[in-house]
Amino acid sequence: MVPTAVVFDWGGTITPCGDADLRDLWNLVARVAAPHQARPLAEALERAEQAWWREALRSGRSGTTTEVLAAVAAAVGVDVVAAVRIAAEGNLEARTPHTIADPEALLVLHLVKARGLLTGLLTNTNWPRLWHERWLVRDGLLGLFDARIYTNDLPFIKPHPGTFGAVLGALGITDPTTAVFVGDRPINDVWGAQQLGMRTILLRGGPVPGYDVVPDATISRLGQVLDVLDAWSTE
Ligand SMILES: [Mg+2]
Repeated sequence: MVPTAVVFDWGGTITPCGDADLRDLWNLVARVAAPHQARPLAEALERAEQAWWREALRSGRSGTTTEVLAAVAAAVGVDVVAAVRIAAEGNLEARTPHTIADPEALLVLHLVKARGLLTGLLTNTNWPRLWHERWLVRDGLLGLFDARIYTNDLPFIKPHPGTFGAVLGALGITDPTTAVFVGDRPINDVWGAQQLGMRTILLRGGPVPGYDVVPDATISRLGQVLDVLDAWSTE
Protein backbone atom coordinates (compact mmCIF):
# COMPACT_ATOMS: atom_id res chain seq x y z
CA MET A 1 0.00 0.00 0.00
CA VAL A 2 1.52 3.32 -1.10
CA PRO A 3 1.34 5.84 1.75
CA THR A 4 -0.89 8.91 1.39
CA ALA A 5 -0.11 10.60 4.70
CA VAL A 6 2.63 10.82 7.32
CA VAL A 7 1.89 11.78 10.92
CA PHE A 8 4.74 12.82 13.20
CA ASP A 9 5.15 12.74 16.95
CA TRP A 10 6.65 15.97 18.36
CA GLY A 11 8.85 15.51 21.49
CA GLY A 12 11.78 13.23 20.73
CA THR A 13 10.86 13.10 17.01
CA ILE A 14 10.43 16.60 15.54
CA THR A 15 12.32 18.04 18.53
CA PRO A 16 14.87 16.49 20.91
CA CYS A 17 12.49 17.33 23.79
CA GLY A 18 10.66 14.68 25.81
CA ASP A 19 6.95 14.77 26.59
CA ALA A 20 5.70 18.07 27.95
CA ASP A 21 5.06 18.32 31.65
CA LEU A 22 2.56 20.44 33.53
CA ARG A 23 5.23 21.35 36.10
CA ASP A 24 7.02 23.37 33.38
CA LEU A 25 3.77 25.14 32.60
CA TRP A 26 3.11 25.97 36.27
CA ASN A 27 6.64 27.39 36.64
CA LEU A 28 6.19 29.66 33.62
CA VAL A 29 2.69 30.73 34.62
CA ALA A 30 3.88 31.53 38.16
CA ARG A 31 6.77 33.66 36.88
CA VAL A 32 4.32 35.70 34.80
CA ALA A 33 1.54 35.95 37.38
CA ALA A 34 3.69 36.61 40.47
CA PRO A 35 7.36 37.26 39.59
CA HIS A 36 8.34 37.78 43.25
CA GLN A 37 6.33 34.85 44.60
CA ALA A 38 6.84 32.47 41.70
CA ARG A 39 8.02 29.43 43.62
CA PRO A 40 5.19 29.23 46.20
CA LEU A 41 2.64 29.97 43.49
CA ALA A 42 4.04 27.22 41.25
CA GLU A 43 3.85 24.81 44.18
CA ALA A 44 0.27 25.85 44.92
CA LEU A 45 -0.66 25.33 41.26
CA GLU A 46 0.91 21.89 41.27
CA ARG A 47 -0.88 20.93 44.50
CA ALA A 48 -4.20 22.03 43.03
CA GLU A 49 -3.47 20.01 39.89
CA GLN A 50 -2.65 16.89 41.93
CA ALA A 51 -5.88 17.33 43.89
CA TRP A 52 -7.79 17.50 40.58
CA TRP A 53 -6.23 14.23 39.40
CA ARG A 54 -6.90 12.49 42.74
CA GLU A 55 -10.56 13.45 42.48
CA ALA A 56 -10.61 12.42 38.81
CA LEU A 57 -9.23 8.96 39.68
CA ARG A 58 -11.65 8.58 42.60
CA SER A 59 -14.69 9.48 40.53
CA GLY A 60 -13.58 7.75 37.32
CA ARG A 61 -13.74 11.07 35.46
CA SER A 62 -11.46 12.11 32.62
CA GLY A 63 -10.92 15.54 31.22
CA THR A 64 -8.89 17.73 28.93
CA THR A 65 -5.92 19.76 30.13
CA THR A 66 -8.05 22.84 29.47
CA GLU A 67 -10.46 21.61 32.14
CA VAL A 68 -7.58 20.96 34.53
CA LEU A 69 -6.28 24.50 33.98
CA ALA A 70 -9.72 25.99 34.65
CA ALA A 71 -10.11 23.98 37.88
CA VAL A 72 -6.62 24.88 39.11
CA ALA A 73 -7.11 28.55 38.26
CA ALA A 74 -10.32 28.61 40.30
CA ALA A 75 -8.70 26.79 43.23
CA VAL A 76 -5.66 29.06 43.42
CA GLY A 77 -7.29 32.31 42.29
CA VAL A 78 -4.88 32.92 39.38
CA ASP A 79 -5.90 33.74 35.81
CA VAL A 80 -3.97 30.84 34.28
CA VAL A 81 -5.30 31.44 30.75
CA ALA A 82 -4.08 35.06 30.76
CA ALA A 83 -0.69 34.03 32.16
CA VAL A 84 -0.33 31.34 29.48
CA ARG A 85 -1.00 33.99 26.80
CA ILE A 86 1.42 36.52 28.31
CA ALA A 87 4.12 33.85 28.64
CA ALA A 88 3.78 33.13 24.91
CA GLU A 89 4.13 36.84 24.09
CA GLY A 90 7.27 37.18 26.22
CA ASN A 91 10.55 35.32 26.03
CA LEU A 92 9.01 31.86 26.00
CA GLU A 93 11.73 30.70 23.61
CA ALA A 94 14.51 31.64 26.01
CA ARG A 95 12.93 29.48 28.70
CA THR A 96 12.23 26.53 26.45
CA PRO A 97 15.30 26.03 24.22
CA HIS A 98 14.68 22.27 24.25
CA THR A 99 11.64 22.87 22.03
CA ILE A 100 13.78 23.82 19.01
CA ALA A 101 13.12 21.51 16.08
CA ASP A 102 15.61 18.97 14.80
CA PRO A 103 17.69 20.67 12.06
CA GLU A 104 16.44 18.06 9.56
CA ALA A 105 12.74 18.64 10.33
CA LEU A 106 12.18 21.57 7.96
CA LEU A 107 13.62 19.78 4.93
CA VAL A 108 11.93 16.48 5.79
CA LEU A 109 8.51 18.14 6.01
CA HIS A 110 9.07 20.01 2.74
CA LEU A 111 10.15 16.84 0.95
CA VAL A 112 7.32 14.73 2.36
CA LYS A 113 4.85 17.31 1.04
CA ALA A 114 6.75 17.50 -2.26
CA ARG A 115 5.99 13.78 -2.65
CA GLY A 116 2.29 14.68 -2.59
CA LEU A 117 1.64 13.28 0.89
CA LEU A 118 -0.49 14.82 3.63
CA THR A 119 1.29 15.61 6.88
CA GLY A 120 0.08 15.57 10.47
CA LEU A 121 1.36 16.23 13.98
CA LEU A 122 0.14 14.31 17.05
CA THR A 123 1.75 15.01 20.40
CA ASN A 124 1.12 13.99 23.99
CA THR A 125 1.32 17.32 25.77
CA ASN A 126 0.05 19.32 28.69
CA TRP A 127 1.20 22.56 27.11
CA PRO A 128 -1.33 24.78 25.35
CA ARG A 129 -1.75 24.78 21.57
CA LEU A 130 -0.77 28.48 21.63
CA TRP A 131 2.73 27.65 22.87
CA HIS A 132 3.27 24.74 20.50
CA GLU A 133 2.19 26.75 17.49
CA ARG A 134 4.40 29.65 18.50
CA TRP A 135 7.38 27.24 18.46
CA LEU A 136 6.29 25.80 15.11
CA VAL A 137 6.08 29.30 13.63
CA ARG A 138 9.53 30.12 15.01
CA ASP A 139 10.99 27.05 13.31
CA GLY A 140 9.09 27.57 10.03
CA LEU A 141 7.08 24.35 10.46
CA LEU A 142 3.52 25.45 11.22
CA GLY A 143 2.26 25.60 7.63
CA LEU A 144 3.94 22.31 6.76
CA PHE A 145 1.52 20.27 8.88
CA ASP A 146 -1.92 19.79 7.31
CA ALA A 147 -3.37 18.80 10.71
CA ARG A 148 -2.08 19.31 14.24
CA ILE A 149 -3.54 17.49 17.24
CA TYR A 150 -2.42 18.26 20.79
CA THR A 151 -3.66 15.88 23.44
CA ASN A 152 -4.29 18.73 25.89
CA ASP A 153 -7.41 19.26 23.76
CA LEU A 154 -8.46 15.61 24.17
CA PRO A 155 -9.53 13.57 27.23
CA PHE A 156 -6.93 10.88 26.45
CA ILE A 157 -3.31 10.53 25.30
CA LYS A 158 -1.32 8.20 23.02
CA PRO A 159 -1.43 5.18 22.82
CA HIS A 160 -5.25 5.59 23.04
CA PRO A 161 -6.58 4.86 19.52
CA GLY A 162 -8.82 7.92 19.76
CA THR A 163 -5.80 10.21 19.47
CA PHE A 164 -4.74 8.61 16.17
CA GLY A 165 -8.36 8.64 15.00
CA ALA A 166 -8.46 12.38 15.75
CA VAL A 167 -5.51 13.20 13.52
CA LEU A 168 -6.61 10.85 10.74
CA GLY A 169 -10.06 12.44 10.86
CA ALA A 170 -8.55 15.92 10.66
CA LEU A 171 -6.59 14.82 7.59
CA GLY A 172 -9.66 13.24 5.99
CA ILE A 173 -8.03 9.79 5.96
CA THR A 174 -10.63 7.02 6.04
CA ASP A 175 -8.24 4.07 5.55
CA PRO A 176 -5.60 4.08 8.34
CA THR A 177 -3.48 1.50 6.47
CA THR A 178 -2.53 4.25 3.99
CA ALA A 179 -1.10 6.41 6.77
CA VAL A 180 2.35 6.25 8.38
CA PHE A 181 3.21 7.25 11.95
CA VAL A 182 6.73 8.39 12.89
CA GLY A 183 7.62 8.45 16.60
CA ASP A 184 10.25 7.67 19.22
CA ARG A 185 8.21 5.72 21.78
CA PRO A 186 7.46 2.03 21.10
CA ILE A 187 4.37 1.90 23.31
CA ASN A 188 2.84 5.34 22.72
CA ASP A 189 3.69 5.75 19.05
CA VAL A 190 4.29 2.31 17.49
CA TRP A 191 1.78 0.25 19.46
CA GLY A 192 -0.70 3.12 19.47
CA ALA A 193 -0.67 3.58 15.69
CA GLN A 194 -0.61 -0.16 14.96
CA GLN A 195 -3.92 -0.61 16.80
CA LEU A 196 -5.56 1.25 13.89
CA GLY A 197 -3.51 -0.51 11.22
CA MET A 198 -1.20 2.42 10.48
CA ARG A 199 2.33 1.69 9.31
CA THR A 200 4.99 2.77 11.78
CA ILE A 201 8.53 4.15 11.71
CA LEU A 202 10.42 4.13 15.01
CA LEU A 203 13.08 6.82 15.46
CA ARG A 204 15.61 5.29 17.84
CA GLY A 205 18.00 7.10 20.10
CA GLY A 206 16.21 8.69 23.03
CA PRO A 207 15.93 7.37 26.60
CA VAL A 208 12.44 5.91 26.28
CA PRO A 209 10.85 2.80 27.81
CA GLY A 210 10.98 -0.36 25.73
CA TYR A 211 7.92 -2.32 24.66
CA ASP A 212 7.42 -5.65 22.92
CA VAL A 213 6.29 -4.33 19.56
CA VAL A 214 7.85 -4.44 16.08
CA PRO A 215 7.74 -1.28 13.94
CA ASP A 216 7.55 -1.55 10.14
CA ALA A 217 10.82 0.38 9.88
CA THR A 218 13.46 1.72 12.25
CA ILE A 219 15.58 4.82 11.68
CA SER A 220 18.30 6.59 13.67
CA ARG A 221 17.91 10.06 12.07
CA LEU A 222 14.76 11.97 11.19
CA GLY A 223 15.95 12.46 7.58
CA GLN A 224 15.83 8.69 7.00
CA VAL A 225 12.02 8.92 6.95
CA LEU A 226 12.39 9.87 3.29
CA ASP A 227 14.35 6.70 2.46
CA VAL A 228 11.65 4.55 4.07
CA LEU A 229 8.82 6.37 2.27
CA ASP A 230 10.61 6.03 -1.07
CA ALA A 231 11.12 2.31 -0.52
CA TRP A 232 7.45 1.82 0.37
CA SER A 233 6.21 3.88 -2.57
CA THR A 234 7.90 1.54 -5.05
CA GLU A 235 6.67 -1.70 -3.47
MG1 LIG B 1 7.96 11.46 21.56
